[in-house]
Amino acid sequence: MRPTLIAKPTPTQAVEGPAYLPQGSECDLFEQTHAAQLPLLLKGPTGCGKTRLVEHMAARLGRPLITVSGHDDLGAADLTGRFLIEGGDTRWLDGPLTRAVREGAIFYLDEVVEARKDITVVLHPLADDRRVLPLDRNGELIKAAPGFMLVLSYNPGYQHLLKGLKPSTRQRFVALSLNYPTPELEQRIVQLESGCSAAVAEQLVRLAQALRRLTEHDLEETASTRLLVMAARLHQRGMALPAAAHAAILEALSDDGPTVAALVEVQSAVL
Ligand code: ADP
Repeated sequence: MRPTLIAKPTPTQAVEGPAYLPQGSECDLFEQTHAAQLPLLLKGPTGCGKTRLVEHMAARLGRPLITVSGHDDLGAADLTGRFLIEGGDTRWLDGPLTRAVREGAIFYLDEVVEARKDITVVLHPLADDRRVLPLDRNGELIKAAPGFMLVLSYNPGYQHLLKGLKPSTRQRFVALSLNYPTPELEQRIVQLESGCSAAVAEQLVRLAQALRRLTEHDLEETASTRLLVMAARLHQRGMALPAAAHAAILEALSDDGPTVAALVEVQSAVL
Protein backbone atom coordinates (compact mmCIF):
# COMPACT_ATOMS: atom_id res chain seq x y z
CA MET A 1 0.00 0.00 0.00
CA ARG A 2 1.43 3.36 -0.99
CA PRO A 3 -0.73 6.23 0.20
CA THR A 4 -0.11 9.45 -1.66
CA LEU A 5 -0.45 12.77 0.05
CA ILE A 6 -1.22 15.83 -1.99
CA ALA A 7 -0.49 18.80 0.21
CA LYS A 8 -3.14 21.36 0.91
CA PRO A 9 -2.47 24.35 -1.36
CA THR A 10 -1.15 27.44 0.38
CA PRO A 11 -3.12 30.64 -0.23
CA THR A 12 -0.59 31.77 -2.84
CA GLN A 13 -0.90 28.56 -4.89
CA ALA A 14 -3.51 28.11 -7.58
CA VAL A 15 -6.39 26.16 -6.05
CA GLU A 16 -7.78 24.73 -9.30
CA GLY A 17 -5.62 21.60 -9.10
CA PRO A 18 -5.69 19.17 -12.00
CA ALA A 19 -8.23 20.06 -14.68
CA TYR A 20 -11.51 18.18 -14.69
CA LEU A 21 -14.09 18.56 -17.44
CA PRO A 22 -17.45 17.66 -15.90
CA GLN A 23 -19.81 15.11 -17.42
CA GLY A 24 -22.80 16.66 -15.63
CA SER A 25 -23.39 18.10 -12.18
CA GLU A 26 -20.90 15.84 -10.37
CA CYS A 27 -18.71 18.71 -9.11
CA ASP A 28 -21.75 20.32 -7.53
CA LEU A 29 -22.86 17.03 -5.97
CA PHE A 30 -19.35 16.48 -4.60
CA GLU A 31 -19.30 19.97 -3.09
CA GLN A 32 -22.73 19.62 -1.49
CA THR A 33 -21.84 16.18 -0.11
CA HIS A 34 -18.67 17.59 1.44
CA ALA A 35 -20.54 20.56 2.90
CA ALA A 36 -23.14 18.20 4.41
CA GLN A 37 -20.32 16.09 5.95
CA LEU A 38 -21.54 13.00 4.15
CA PRO A 39 -19.42 10.23 2.60
CA LEU A 40 -19.42 9.60 -1.16
CA LEU A 41 -19.35 6.41 -3.22
CA LEU A 42 -18.08 6.82 -6.79
CA LYS A 43 -19.07 4.09 -9.24
CA GLY A 44 -17.75 3.67 -12.75
CA PRO A 45 -15.43 1.75 -15.05
CA THR A 46 -11.68 2.12 -14.73
CA GLY A 47 -10.14 5.16 -16.43
CA CYS A 48 -13.36 7.19 -16.65
CA GLY A 49 -12.23 10.08 -14.45
CA LYS A 50 -13.11 9.10 -10.85
CA THR A 51 -9.66 9.80 -9.42
CA ARG A 52 -9.33 13.00 -11.42
CA LEU A 53 -12.66 14.25 -10.08
CA VAL A 54 -11.52 13.64 -6.49
CA GLU A 55 -8.14 15.35 -7.09
CA HIS A 56 -9.83 18.31 -8.71
CA MET A 57 -12.43 18.69 -5.98
CA ALA A 58 -9.89 18.34 -3.16
CA ALA A 59 -7.95 21.25 -4.64
CA ARG A 60 -11.13 23.25 -5.22
CA LEU A 61 -12.31 22.70 -1.65
CA GLY A 62 -8.82 23.47 -0.31
CA ARG A 63 -8.53 20.11 1.48
CA PRO A 64 -5.49 17.83 1.58
CA LEU A 65 -6.07 14.56 -0.27
CA ILE A 66 -4.88 11.16 0.93
CA THR A 67 -5.37 8.33 -1.56
CA VAL A 68 -5.06 4.59 -0.96
CA SER A 69 -5.59 1.90 -3.61
CA GLY A 70 -7.54 -1.16 -2.50
CA HIS A 71 -5.90 -4.57 -2.92
CA ASP A 72 -6.64 -7.99 -1.51
CA ASP A 73 -4.18 -7.66 1.35
CA LEU A 74 -5.33 -4.23 2.51
CA GLY A 75 -6.78 -4.50 6.01
CA ALA A 76 -8.01 -2.19 8.76
CA ALA A 77 -4.56 -1.86 10.38
CA ASP A 78 -3.10 -0.62 7.09
CA LEU A 79 -5.59 2.24 7.26
CA THR A 80 -5.58 3.04 10.97
CA GLY A 81 -1.90 2.52 11.86
CA ARG A 82 0.29 0.18 13.83
CA PHE A 83 2.91 -0.06 16.52
CA LEU A 84 6.50 0.02 15.31
CA ILE A 85 9.28 -1.56 17.27
CA GLU A 86 12.41 0.54 17.03
CA GLY A 87 15.51 -0.44 19.00
CA GLY A 88 13.48 -1.93 21.84
CA ASP A 89 11.00 0.98 21.87
CA THR A 90 7.44 0.71 20.65
CA ARG A 91 5.78 3.69 19.09
CA TRP A 92 2.46 4.17 17.33
CA LEU A 93 2.44 5.32 13.72
CA ASP A 94 -0.81 6.74 12.36
CA GLY A 95 -2.00 5.11 9.15
CA PRO A 96 -3.33 7.14 6.21
CA LEU A 97 -6.97 7.08 7.33
CA THR A 98 -6.08 8.22 10.86
CA ARG A 99 -4.02 11.08 9.42
CA ALA A 100 -6.91 12.12 7.18
CA VAL A 101 -9.39 12.03 10.09
CA ARG A 102 -7.11 14.15 12.28
CA GLU A 103 -6.23 16.66 9.52
CA GLY A 104 -9.70 17.03 8.04
CA ALA A 105 -8.45 15.70 4.71
CA ILE A 106 -10.35 14.01 1.92
CA PHE A 107 -9.61 10.29 2.15
CA TYR A 108 -10.01 8.45 -1.15
CA LEU A 109 -10.03 4.65 -1.12
CA ASP A 110 -9.92 3.46 -4.70
CA GLU A 111 -11.28 -0.01 -5.62
CA VAL A 112 -12.71 -0.58 -2.17
CA VAL A 113 -14.14 -4.02 -2.93
CA GLU A 114 -10.63 -5.38 -3.46
CA ALA A 115 -9.77 -4.71 0.19
CA ARG A 116 -10.27 -7.09 3.12
CA LYS A 117 -13.67 -7.14 4.76
CA ASP A 118 -12.36 -5.99 8.15
CA ILE A 119 -12.00 -2.44 6.80
CA THR A 120 -15.77 -1.98 7.14
CA VAL A 121 -15.29 -1.97 10.92
CA VAL A 122 -13.32 1.27 10.66
CA LEU A 123 -15.25 2.77 7.75
CA HIS A 124 -18.80 2.41 9.09
CA PRO A 125 -18.51 4.67 12.17
CA LEU A 126 -16.85 7.29 9.95
CA ALA A 127 -19.56 7.02 7.33
CA ASP A 128 -22.54 7.73 9.57
CA ASP A 129 -23.46 10.59 11.89
CA ARG A 130 -20.86 9.62 14.43
CA ARG A 131 -17.93 10.52 12.15
CA VAL A 132 -15.53 8.76 14.49
CA LEU A 133 -12.61 6.44 13.91
CA PRO A 134 -12.21 3.66 16.49
CA LEU A 135 -8.58 2.78 17.18
CA ASP A 136 -8.48 -0.64 18.77
CA ARG A 137 -4.96 -0.12 20.19
CA ASN A 138 -6.46 1.61 23.25
CA GLY A 139 -10.16 1.93 22.52
CA GLU A 140 -9.66 5.57 21.46
CA LEU A 141 -12.35 7.16 19.31
CA ILE A 142 -11.06 9.98 17.14
CA LYS A 143 -13.66 12.52 16.06
CA ALA A 144 -13.18 13.49 12.42
CA ALA A 145 -12.04 17.10 11.89
CA PRO A 146 -14.69 19.21 10.12
CA GLY A 147 -13.28 19.07 6.56
CA PHE A 148 -12.83 15.29 6.61
CA MET A 149 -14.61 13.40 3.83
CA LEU A 150 -14.59 9.70 3.05
CA VAL A 151 -14.72 8.86 -0.66
CA LEU A 152 -14.79 5.27 -1.90
CA SER A 153 -14.76 4.13 -5.49
CA TYR A 154 -15.44 0.87 -7.19
CA ASN A 155 -15.99 -0.53 -10.60
CA PRO A 156 -19.38 -2.29 -10.79
CA GLY A 157 -18.15 -4.16 -13.90
CA TYR A 158 -15.62 -6.08 -11.82
CA GLN A 159 -18.12 -7.38 -9.36
CA HIS A 160 -18.69 -11.02 -8.90
CA LEU A 161 -21.03 -12.52 -6.41
CA LEU A 162 -18.67 -12.61 -3.47
CA LYS A 163 -17.14 -9.22 -3.93
CA GLY A 164 -20.05 -6.79 -4.10
CA LEU A 165 -20.37 -3.99 -1.60
CA LYS A 166 -22.66 -4.96 1.27
CA PRO A 167 -25.99 -3.08 1.49
CA SER A 168 -25.10 -2.00 5.03
CA THR A 169 -22.07 -0.22 3.59
CA ARG A 170 -23.72 1.16 0.44
CA GLN A 171 -26.58 2.67 2.39
CA ARG A 172 -24.26 4.91 4.36
CA PHE A 173 -23.05 6.73 1.25
CA VAL A 174 -24.25 9.32 -1.21
CA ALA A 175 -23.59 7.60 -4.56
CA LEU A 176 -22.48 9.00 -7.89
CA SER A 177 -22.13 7.04 -11.13
CA LEU A 178 -19.65 8.11 -13.78
CA ASN A 179 -19.27 6.52 -17.17
CA TYR A 180 -17.13 7.19 -20.22
CA PRO A 181 -17.78 10.77 -21.35
CA THR A 182 -19.84 11.61 -24.44
CA PRO A 183 -17.75 11.63 -27.66
CA GLU A 184 -17.65 15.45 -27.77
CA LEU A 185 -16.46 15.72 -24.17
CA GLU A 186 -14.04 12.83 -24.48
CA GLN A 187 -12.47 14.50 -27.50
CA ARG A 188 -11.94 17.70 -25.48
CA ILE A 189 -10.43 15.68 -22.62
CA VAL A 190 -7.99 13.84 -24.90
CA GLN A 191 -6.93 17.15 -26.47
CA LEU A 192 -6.54 18.87 -23.11
CA GLU A 193 -4.61 16.02 -21.50
CA SER A 194 -2.23 15.34 -24.39
CA GLY A 195 -2.02 18.56 -26.38
CA CYS A 196 -2.97 16.69 -29.56
CA SER A 197 -5.02 18.19 -32.40
CA ALA A 198 -8.81 18.02 -32.56
CA ALA A 199 -8.50 15.69 -35.57
CA VAL A 200 -6.32 13.17 -33.70
CA ALA A 201 -8.55 13.28 -30.63
CA GLU A 202 -11.58 12.70 -32.83
CA GLN A 203 -9.96 9.63 -34.44
CA LEU A 204 -9.05 8.15 -31.08
CA VAL A 205 -12.54 8.70 -29.74
CA ARG A 206 -14.00 7.02 -32.84
CA LEU A 207 -11.71 4.05 -32.20
CA ALA A 208 -12.88 3.92 -28.59
CA GLN A 209 -16.50 4.00 -29.72
CA ALA A 210 -15.90 1.08 -32.09
CA LEU A 211 -14.09 -0.92 -29.40
CA ARG A 212 -16.81 -0.21 -26.84
CA ARG A 213 -19.41 -1.58 -29.24
CA LEU A 214 -17.66 -4.95 -29.36
CA THR A 215 -19.61 -7.54 -27.47
CA GLU A 216 -18.44 -10.76 -29.04
CA HIS A 217 -15.00 -10.64 -27.42
CA ASP A 218 -15.05 -11.33 -23.77
CA LEU A 219 -12.98 -8.33 -22.77
CA GLU A 220 -12.77 -7.72 -19.06
CA GLU A 221 -12.49 -3.99 -19.70
CA THR A 222 -12.97 -1.81 -22.71
CA ALA A 223 -11.06 1.24 -24.04
CA SER A 224 -11.05 3.90 -21.32
CA THR A 225 -10.45 7.63 -21.57
CA ARG A 226 -7.13 7.00 -19.82
CA LEU A 227 -5.96 4.72 -22.66
CA LEU A 228 -6.93 7.29 -25.29
CA VAL A 229 -4.92 9.96 -23.47
CA MET A 230 -1.92 7.60 -23.33
CA ALA A 231 -2.12 6.89 -27.08
CA ALA A 232 -2.42 10.61 -27.84
CA ARG A 233 0.64 11.35 -25.69
CA LEU A 234 2.71 8.75 -27.57
CA HIS A 235 1.54 10.25 -30.85
CA GLN A 236 2.50 13.73 -29.62
CA ARG A 237 6.04 12.42 -29.17
CA GLY A 238 6.19 11.46 -32.83
CA MET A 239 4.81 7.91 -32.94
CA ALA A 240 2.44 7.14 -35.83
CA LEU A 241 -1.14 7.09 -34.58
CA PRO A 242 -1.89 3.42 -35.42
CA ALA A 243 1.27 2.26 -33.62
CA ALA A 244 0.50 4.46 -30.63
CA ALA A 245 -3.07 3.19 -30.45
CA HIS A 246 -1.93 -0.42 -30.78
CA ALA A 247 0.57 -0.11 -27.94
CA ALA A 248 -1.49 2.06 -25.59
CA ILE A 249 -5.00 0.77 -26.26
CA LEU A 250 -5.24 -2.62 -27.98
CA GLU A 251 -2.47 -4.36 -26.07
CA ALA A 252 -3.92 -3.07 -22.81
CA LEU A 253 -7.26 -4.73 -23.50
CA SER A 254 -6.22 -8.33 -24.01
CA ASP A 255 -3.32 -10.77 -23.72
CA ASP A 256 -4.98 -13.26 -26.03
CA GLY A 257 -3.41 -13.31 -29.54
CA PRO A 258 -6.62 -13.96 -31.54
CA THR A 259 -8.51 -11.33 -29.55
CA VAL A 260 -5.81 -8.72 -30.16
CA ALA A 261 -5.88 -9.64 -33.86
CA ALA A 262 -9.63 -9.00 -33.91
CA LEU A 263 -9.09 -5.64 -32.18
CA VAL A 264 -6.48 -4.77 -34.84
CA GLU A 265 -9.19 -5.37 -37.48
CA VAL A 266 -11.48 -2.93 -35.71
CA GLN A 267 -8.68 -0.38 -35.44
CA SER A 268 -7.71 -0.62 -39.10
CA ALA A 269 -11.28 0.21 -40.08
CA VAL A 270 -11.08 3.45 -38.08
CA LEU A 271 -7.47 4.74 -38.14
P1 ADP B 1 -10.38 6.30 -12.77
O1 ADP B 1 -10.02 6.84 -11.43
O2 ADP B 1 -11.86 6.33 -13.05
O3 ADP B 1 -9.77 4.95 -13.07
P2 ADP B 1 -8.84 8.56 -13.74
O4 ADP B 1 -9.50 9.65 -12.99
O5 ADP B 1 -7.48 8.13 -13.28
O6 ADP B 1 -9.79 7.29 -13.88
O7 ADP B 1 -8.80 9.05 -15.27
C1 ADP B 1 -7.82 8.61 -16.16
C2 ADP B 1 -7.30 9.77 -16.99
O8 ADP B 1 -8.32 10.19 -17.91
C3 ADP B 1 -6.97 11.01 -16.17
O9 ADP B 1 -5.64 10.98 -15.72
C4 ADP B 1 -7.21 12.12 -17.16
O10 ADP B 1 -6.07 12.26 -18.01
C5 ADP B 1 -8.32 11.60 -18.03
N1 ADP B 1 -9.69 12.04 -17.67
C6 ADP B 1 -10.78 11.22 -17.57
N2 ADP B 1 -11.89 11.95 -17.34
C7 ADP B 1 -11.50 13.25 -17.30
C8 ADP B 1 -12.21 14.50 -17.13
N3 ADP B 1 -13.54 14.51 -16.96
N4 ADP B 1 -11.50 15.64 -17.17
C9 ADP B 1 -10.15 15.62 -17.35
N5 ADP B 1 -9.44 14.47 -17.54
C10 ADP B 1 -10.10 13.31 -17.50
